Amino acid sequence: MQTKDIDLLIKNGTVLTINSDMKVISHGWIAVNNQQIVAMGDDSITHTNYLPAQTIDASGKIVMPGFINSHTHIPMAYFKGLADDLPLHTWLNEHIWPKESKMINDEFIYHSSLHGIAELIKNGIVMFNDNYFRGKQIAKAATEAGVRAVIGEGILDFPVAGYENSAMIFDYFISLRDQYKQSKLIDISLSPHSIYTCEKETLQKTIHLAKEYDILLHTHLAETKKEYDDCMDLHKKSPVAYLNDLGFFSDKSILAHCVWLNDEDIDILSEKKVHISVNTKSNLKLASGFIPFQKCFLKGINMTLGTDGVASNNNLSIIEEMGITARVHKALNSDPTALPASEVVKFVTINAAKALGKDNLIGSLEIGKQADIIVIDTDNIESLPAYNPYSQIVYSLSSNTVSDVVINGKTIMYNRQLLTLDEEEIKDRAYYYHKKMIED
Ligand SMILES: [Zn+2]
Repeated sequence: MQTKDIDLLIKNGTVLTINSDMKVISHGWIAVNNQQIVAMGDDSITHTNYLPAQTIDASGKIVMPGFINSHTHIPMAYFKGLADDLPLHTWLNEHIWPKESKMINDEFIYHSSLHGIAELIKNGIVMFNDNYFRGKQIAKAATEAGVRAVIGEGILDFPVAGYENSAMIFDYFISLRDQYKQSKLIDISLSPHSIYTCEKETLQKTIHLAKEYDILLHTHLAETKKEYDDCMDLHKKSPVAYLNDLGFFSDKSILAHCVWLNDEDIDILSEKKVHISVNTKSNLKLASGFIPFQKCFLKGINMTLGTDGVASNNNLSIIEEMGITARVHKALNSDPTALPASEVVKFVTINAAKALGKDNLIGSLEIGKQADIIVIDTDNIESLPAYNPYSQIVYSLSSNTVSDVVINGKTIMYNRQLLTLDEEEIKDRAYYYHKKMIED
């Protein structure tokens, strides 16, 4: 038998492919070489002809596509727990924005991003869709860590993060986009914060630029009743209708929250083929309300899940997000069959990959796709007995059961040890910034 050197072999696991048939392979193996999945199968097909440089034994473990977090503010890691138990607009106006204006500089964003990215990896997240400022620092941290990201340069119409106005942000965006044009891991998007922090002209300019550069538009939309009511007062239309009339929506729009939607809004979002990032834990904590999930889902809108920032969540566990979202919408619909576990797993894998324009590369485990793979340990009391791997993931497991993370063919967490980042150094810096935050 002819042998072949490969980079990585993952073997003996229960492989959830998340392909179009949702095929599950018992005692499965995956061969990875040159960043790609080159072969896979079960025990009936031998893999002994592959000579791997590294082997992960996934006995008693689930092997699946890495999770994708579709709405984050990763550099807010150091804001975790700083101001809790407040309504959104008080929280933003009186706590987050004043503190950001004092603390934020390139160094803060870089270090806080490294912290947030370390937490993402520990949660099995291989790609995040971010909305913040000074994206060069976030992209630098993501590149060092070896994770995928869409870095959305945040746009606001008041001075923030050293920018005097949105024109300065547009210039920064163009230079950021040029810098990462060839990157395999990093994409750049434009992220106007919201309809209540961006003027109409700024939104129009953003839409124009996004079309010119053929990139994603990522925004917060219809998050609170106040946003909905203010928009009705000011523009005589809903937030969705307002953005629709500006030409914001397409299959390159990813919209966070979408809590306050009427039936016409849902029809518009469905027709325009937008992608929604549902942020259940953030909405629960800020008491923003509940997205009409089932209505959106049944209208065929591509649904994904995001943690939002740790300042409003307060962690980056996409596993928790799955379990809570499924339970909340079963209860709200008085229907335990709503949001079945296998469907929920798609929200954070193939659906999210589609939302970020990457479903031809990642989001499922198939020969020829890029190797973004996580291994989850189910050989423990909380996981056993194992009847249905989707149920285990959505309803039983916690994030610390994620044992290994592979991104673009490279192992970046092995047996819960971070291989690309120094965990002790990141913890030390968190203590340092904690001191600075409370002194200021
Ligand atoms: Zn957000």
